[in-house]
Amino acid sequence: MRAAVVVEHRKPLEIREVPDPTPGPQDAIVRVEACGICRSDWHGWMGDWTWLGLSPQLPFIPGHEFAGVVVEVGKEVKRIRVGDRVTVPFHYACGHCSYCLSGVPNRCEDLKIFGFSLDGAYAQYVRIPNADFNAIKLPEGVDSVTAAAIGCRYMTGYHAVIRGNVQPGDWVAVHGAGGVGLSAIQTAYAIGARVIAVDIDDAKLEIARREGAVATVNARRESVPGAIREITRGGAHVSIDALGTRETILNSVLCLRKGGRHVQVGLTGQEEQGMVALPTDLIVSMELEFVGSLGNPHPQYQGLLALVEQGRLKPRSLVSRTVKLEEASDVLQAMSEFRTVGFTVITEF
Ligand SMILES: [Zn+2]
Ligand SMILES: [Zn+2]
Repeated sequence: MRAAVVVEHRKPLEIREVPDPTPGPQDAIVRVEACGICRSDWHGWMGDWTWLGLSPQLPFIPGHEFAGVVVEVGKEVKRIRVGDRVTVPFHYACGHCSYCLSGVPNRCEDLKIFGFSLDGAYAQYVRIPNADFNAIKLPEGVDSVTAAAIGCRYMTGYHAVIRGNVQPGDWVAVHGAGGVGLSAIQTAYAIGARVIAVDIDDAKLEIARREGAVATVNARRESVPGAIREITRGGAHVSIDALGTRETILNSVLCLRKGGRHVQVGLTGQEEQGMVALPTDLIVSMELEFVGSLGNPHPQYQGLLALVEQGRLKPRSLVSRTVKLEEASDVLQAMSEFRTVGFTVITEF
């Protein structure tokens, strides 16, 4: 099969002919119809996240937000059949540890990530291990491009809103109007929150308004915590950092009102390497919460897909561009300069 392969960090991907994946007894093979190009792929391509134990061995096939059709299943697979249209959460889970059994497989003890610890879907075919647990069947009304958009960024933004315990009427600040940020904005708006989008790019803030933000703050021109405290008259109830830089993390914590909740969903890059000093005394005196959010537990897909099918959430509207496998390299390069807008999805393999 054809695959786009990272042979060297920060160098163009190579289009190579590689062996087709074959299923183990519990696996499914999926013919990929759509695969998103995510900032996490960019981090993998850059060679980041060694501090998370997430730097894949070279060469590797990236791609963790995908959808397609099952073409082959192992002999122990029962629930998933050839011909099913499926997607997966980017985080593979074992299905039988205490976390998986208690409904939070995104905390699985044996968590693996497509395109990092498993072969990804910048390819014609991809193997889904433990398919009965990990493959999620798509409803009729959800096409592959939409499902690919959901696979990582959208469901991550959706889960961040749930982790933020966002209530109707709450002021919710979202820092970073990229894929995850826009997804959080759509979701928070859909449940009746008042959303403020923060970014450094006016074009992205314009899209944020279209997706439901009632106010925007350009972090290049304004002090973010000050501007948000003024708009909300006292601070946001919930603030979501969808980016993961020292600046966005601090802006997010500092824009909260007393009792507010910060949700960290963006992972940091080379500069922070996972370590950022926090205004700890303020967290105590204002009784703030600092919450992490990773992916989206498999059981939460039911609600998410139902809302998408009903048209109340619209991940498809965030897909700005579809490309060929050969173009993936250029898209990663563009991400280095934050030139991409919304989601780019590979649809030709
Ligand atoms: Zn598990
Ligand atoms: Zn991703």
